[in-house]
Amino acid sequence: MSYDDNNIFAKILRGEIPCKKIYEDDFVLSFHDINPQKKIHALVIPKGRFIDLDDFSANASSEEMVGLLKGINTVAKKLNISADTGKGYRALANISEHGGQEVPHLHFHLFGGEIVGKMVE
Ligand code: 5GP
Repeated sequence: MSYDDNNIFAKILRGEIPCKKIYEDDFVLSFHDINPQKKIHALVIPKGRFIDLDDFSANASSEEMVGLLKGINTVAKKLNISADTGKGYRALANISEHGGQEVPHLHFHLFGGEIVGKMVE
């Protein structure tokens, strides 16, 4: 499968579709999920064209990898849900069909603001 430049997150990255932005730097964009599953439901996406975590792990540069992890931490701190500024959260990445991934651009969900609950249904 190759990267689809028409996926919704690619459009958000290009500014063609609006988002409720939380944070942006050279490596990541973060915004609120349009259909929040918890009190806080943020998405953190790399700026590069990566389909999922496997694609990212195989093909991203070291800089991009560090940038994504740092970005997640920065967003968690900004939202006051990190382990040091708040009460914690869940970071989750769905991968492909069995993982339930709907948008084919790598994204981490950050759930928090309340007890997140069971890990899987
Ligand atoms: P996935 O199932 O691929 O892991 O999650 C995709 C997520 O993207 C879902 O939680 C869905 O609500 C969110 N989403 C889909 N379209 C949009 C959109 O246009 N804007 C925002 N902010 N979130 C979206």
